[in-house]
Amino acid sequence: MTTNYNDWFHVLENTEPRSAKLADRTFEKLAKERMPPTPENYALWYTYYAGYQPDLNRVIDQMEQSGQPFTPLRCEDLVKRFFRFDAEAHAVRSAGDKTQEAITKVLKTINTSLSDSGRYQGAVETLQSTLEQPLNMDRLRTVVASVVVEVKTMVNEQEQLRQQLDMASSELATLRANLDTVRRQAETDALTGIANRRAFDQTLKQALGAAVRNRTALSLLLIDIDHFKKFNDTYGHSLGDQVLKVVARLLTHCVEDKGTPARYGGEEFAIILPRLDATEARKIAETIRVTISSKQIANREGGQTYGTITLSVGVAQYMANESIGSLIDRADEALYKAKSGGRNRVQLAE
Ligand code: GH3
Ligand code: MG
Ligand code: MG
Repeated sequence: MTTNYNDWFHVLENTEPRSAKLADRTFEKLAKERMPPTPENYALWYTYYAGYQPDLNRVIDQMEQSGQPFTPLRCEDLVKRFFRFDAEAHAVRSAGDKTQEAITKVLKTINTSLSDSGRYQGAVETLQSTLEQPLNMDRLRTVVASVVVEVKTMVNEQEQLRQQLDMASSELATLRANLDTVRRQAETDALTGIANRRAFDQTLKQALGAAVRNRTALSLLLIDIDHFKKFNDTYGHSLGDQVLKVVARLLTHCVEDKGTPARYGGEEFAIILPRLDATEARKIAETIRVTISSKQIANREGGQTYGTITLSVGVAQYMANESIGSLIDRADEALYKAKSGGRNRVQLAE
């Protein structure tokens, strides 16, 4: 097994300097408070220094001010109160980064230490001083033999160490990849492969923040399949599932890179459209509606057809100072109007 260390250095050079700094402060704090460096404690202090959760910072600052020590029990309490999977995954990731960094440093040291190792120099010096004395073959042979033994031992030791580090580094790479997979799974709808509700909530929150900061538009589509219960009742739930997959694929196709389609609930979808106003969002909604209603649902193998599927869509553009809840409610009200107005239509929110 070989590892290309250059790749490693490359990875490290590209890790965010801010997160490395936060990791340093976190490790310092853990050492200072004599807290065991568990992923939970790491998450706690990393989050504190990053300022991700203002409520957590408030509680910790109060504890510091009143001189309360951070006992394992208190830390555990804080972790239970403030953390879910997210923070832990984040913490484990940066713990992984930190460990990789440490290993890379050791590897660098090993790579440069061979030539100036004290033992090696000692052996060479002995050899040199022997050569400066009148030549005595027996003596020379003994010294050369001992130098060879010394160097061989050293090379062996270094090789062993290198192998161990190789193993550790590939284990870390696997750990990282696993964490990425878990994270991706946690944000993906298992049936359709598009973003799930959880990812939708996060993405909308971020998109809204960006829209406010940059004073750009943001629109939201809520989409519901018409009479889907009837489709299920007529053709069966598993064909219904296939339809959900097709709809998700078509949504993704129609949206291109303009936004994020998500499965919002059972047969409901949502699309977040950053930078688009209601007029532009409505155009996309109309494209989606026409695309889907013009497709015959068919079984590729059997050649059977199951008629067409239609959608109703509510469109809402974010209004200054409204909450996420209000934006979603307005899109939902528009969707309800599209339904009561006869379905298979796009309705703009008030
Ligand atoms: P409307 O036009 O008013 O939306 O009518 P509808 O029948 O679509 O609405 P309703 O809310 O009455 O029923 C939604 C149906 O969607 C019920 C359920 O069988 C179906 N559904 C929800 N999730 C899934 C799913 O994951 N797979 C399948 N096959 N069907 C689902
Ligand atoms: Mg519904
Ligand atoms: Mg429906």
